[in-house]
Amino acid sequence: MTITKTCRDCKLEKPITEFSPRQNYNKSGVKYMNSFCKHCLTIRARNWQKKNPVKYKTYQDEYKEERQAHNDETYIHPAEGPNN
Ligand SMILES: [Zn+2]
Repeated sequence: MTITKTCRDCKLEKPITEFSPRQNYNKSGVKYMNSFCKHCLTIRARNWQKKNPVKYKTYQDEYKEERQAHNDETYIHPAEGPNN
């Protein structure tokens, strides 16, 4: 038996595998599933990028910095910095 869910965007009933779980959990520890199918999520993400190019760029930059921070051997953790 396949568990299905109706996408809030395209209104189609699709198998649960067509939906991605969200990062957060509810109080009982059950993972939230996205209300939109993967296909609609992709479209929504693309539209969001178009509508929020600045936010998207900031997000990308932050992510890049974080990645570099972890790869960079000379990176000093704030707690170990010279100010302490
Ligand atoms: Zn959909």
